Amino acid sequence: MLTGRKYLLDLTAEQTAFAERIGGACRAVWNTALEQRRTYRRRGAFIAYHDQAGQLVEAKGEPGLEWLAGVPGHCLQQTLIDLDQACARHGTFKVRWKSKTRTRPSFRFPEGGKIAVERLNRRWARAKLPKLGWVRFRWTRPLGGAVKNATVSREGRRWYISFLVDDGAQTPARHAKPDAGIGVDRGVVKIVTTSEGRFHHKVFATGREVEHAAKLQQDLARATKGSNRRKRAARRMGAVSAKIRRRRADFAAKTAHVLTRDHNLIVFEALKTKNMTSSVAPKPDPDRPGAFLPNGAAAKSGLNRAILDKGWHRIELAVRSKARYTGSCVIAVNPANTSITCHECKNVDTRSRKSQAVFVCTSCGHRDHADVNAAKNILTAGRAELAQARPAARAGARKPRNRVGRKANRQATAAQDLATTSPGPAGIPRP
Ligand SMILES: [Zn+2]
Repeated sequence: MLTGRKYLLDLTAEQTAFAERIGGACRAVWNTALEQRRTYRRRGAFIAYHDQAGQLVEAKGEPGLEWLAGVPGHCLQQTLIDLDQACARHGTFKVRWKSKTRTRPSFRFPEGGKIAVERLNRRWARAKLPKLGWVRFRWTRPLGGAVKNATVSREGRRWYISFLVDDGAQTPARHAKPDAGIGVDRGVVKIVTTSEGRFHHKVFATGREVEHAAKLQQDLARATKGSNRRKRAARRMGAVSAKIRRRRADFAAKTAHVLTRDHNLIVFEALKTKNMTSSVAPKPDPDRPGAFLPNGAAAKSGLNRAILDKGWHRIELAVRSKARYTGSCVIAVNPANTSITCHECKNVDTRSRKSQAVFVCTSCGHRDHADVNAAKNILTAGRAELAQARPAARAGARKPRNRVGRKANRQATAAQDLATTSPGPAGIPRP
């Protein structure tokens, strides 16, 4: 199975400067190639990866572009491949520019066979990267497999190296616990609430960190562009948000571990990512033409988002990744009404939800924690979806026309796998 291993790098001053340069070159290549793709698309034409890669090789010889020749060519090519995939997946006009200040530098060495890794002592190891040479990194865990590629990236002021390794593991045919499904409700007050009535929560930014970040934000806004003061504030800000990000990643990994270890079926509610990521519509002021009223945009952007972000999507990604090792089946269901439906009598009523935490059914009087009740409904919906999907999977091949259909088919296949590979019902009630 392919998996990632991330280590903290200890670069020398020259290596740090060189790594910044490589990151900058990859960013420039990304932006130039994206602009070229857009120009072609506007004319109704299309430029493929191979043409762009050819032009990149030619560009290295041109005067004024010597800086391109100095950086590892494979990293630049990999940038073009990544761009090609991003455009294929999201559309040429949806793919974003990489901004100098907002994008963290990151570049990949695609040829794992050329990367030598050596253990130096108990705490340190080193890897030999093309042109960058030997880089020392903090040995916190064994690699556990052959290196496929390596990515160097910076978060705040720290540099990291991540290896993609093949650890040789196989997804088990059935989960160690044959009858243990769980529903997961993601929220703000408690990040994860399960249908078993357990809460997983962590505060990612302390009160002092929030204050500090707000002050830095103010410094950033006041300092002149390009000034040293602004650079310093930006650097400190990067360090604060990197710390918050690390805590979020840690929480996601630990939660995912517990969920996948104990459960063969994990049901999430599908997130409305569109609402979460899109910017807020401007609100014109009716009294003053051309002016705008506060629309809550600040709460959705920048610093606020970093602090308020609970990492819901990251948790699901971590669970899906870990599930490959335990054989858990992970699905996402339509979240409609899960928070206002009584789990006991299935009565749907918004008034049943008395407050953020309290659920009292208006029909049968059933009392529960509101999020636990929702998580139970999510689990029920997941089991129903699997039960429905299984006969469809048996009947086999109707080719789905859209994304939703393809997703349903994948889940059906997962259900079929559960049904055929294990002798028992694998914990999911048969229809
Ligand atoms: Zn009820």
